[in-house]
Amino acid sequence: MEQKIHMVDLISQYKDIKSEVDIAINKVIEEASFIKGPQVKEFESSLSDYLNCGHTIACANGTDALQIALMALGLKPGDEVIVPAFTYVATAEVIALLGLKPVMVDVELDSFSILLDGLEKAVTTKTKAIVPVHLFGQSSNMEAIMKFASTHNLYVVEDNAQAIGSDFIFESGERSKTGTIGHIGCTSFFPSKNLGCYGDGGAIFTNDDHLATQIRMIANHGQKKKYYHSVVGCNSRLDSIQAAVLNIKLKKLDEYCAHRNKLADYYDGQLSDIEELIIPYRYKQSTHVFHQYTLRVANGKRDALKEHLSANNIPCGIYYPLPLYKQEAYSHYVTQNFSLSNTEQLCEEVISLPMHTHMTEGQREYIVAEVRSFFDD
Ligand SMILES: *Cc1c(COP(=O)(O)O)cnc(C)c1O
Repeated sequence: MEQKIHMVDLISQYKDIKSEVDIAINKVIEEASFIKGPQVKEFESSLSDYLNCGHTIACANGTDALQIALMALGLKPGDEVIVPAFTYVATAEVIALLGLKPVMVDVELDSFSILLDGLEKAVTTKTKAIVPVHLFGQSSNMEAIMKFASTHNLYVVEDNAQAIGSDFIFESGERSKTGTIGHIGCTSFFPSKNLGCYGDGGAIFTNDDHLATQIRMIANHGQKKKYYHSVVGCNSRLDSIQAAVLNIKLKKLDEYCAHRNKLADYYDGQLSDIEELIIPYRYKQSTHVFHQYTLRVANGKRDALKEHLSANNIPCGIYYPLPLYKQEAYSHYVTQNFSLSNTEQLCEEVISLPMHTHMTEGQREYIVAEVRSFFDD
């Protein structure tokens, strides 16, 4: 290969926007507006416009965004919050940290969306909220989830860390950006996310004015007025340098999503005839922004495929290898033989190929050739 293949290539991406980014970062430094600079306000406002939502509150990272969102709902210790068992740990971690109980539910095998049937089984009188995760870049079934939540009087906090920019399409044909459908939406600007900064960052979205006020206050030490603290909050800010980078990258987000889709279409076309592989499911009620291009490998060959690719200098990812309820830190939330069949199966089957905005034709051809050669042997 002429060039090393990366899971995510942020260096090539930077080179394309280098002059603009360097000027913007330098401006923050020269004006010493590191914290609460005008870049942060500008970013919050541009992101609200892009998402068509009432309020965007920037914060320090995606995990904080989830924590602050849950704090704003005023839940009591012991209240239950439903999460998919097949997700990144942050989703459940913040629930546990706040003394709430994460209740883990299975996901659909094809779309990875939280199972509606599982929601029905999991809901109790203590359930207060659901945190659907738009895994790998495609929306959960938000129309059904919102309907379920409204029937049971539950809050919905969307974990949109992997799907920023994707649209959910309602049965009426109406579209909304993911993260703006539930009561609160959360995202992360971790560098490798679809809209990533050059360090840590996150944001919280809501259309509810009261929740927006609470969220802003909680993220800022629980104060509405400086040195007067109404509630116990935290200190979670997006710094101005990160906002300056995000202002530039937000303008390119749709273009970046299009590049990812083009690569996903190519992978689909080249790999769909391999019998032991299942290409990513395209849910008709959502556009896909391909945070990950995740295949499912049948017949227990996933780990061997991973080894074959690694041996040929192709990185790949297993997101995620272990269900939440089997993690040492979270296993005490379930009974001893607790098991969710789709989640268990996915942990054995999934493998994500390199996916980013700057893949060359030579690289993508090499990747599919190596995947094919594994199954041909
Ligand atoms: C990345 C991610 C988070 C956490 O974001 P950080 O900015 O790393 O704290 C939360 N949930 C999901 C699904 C993620 O992918």
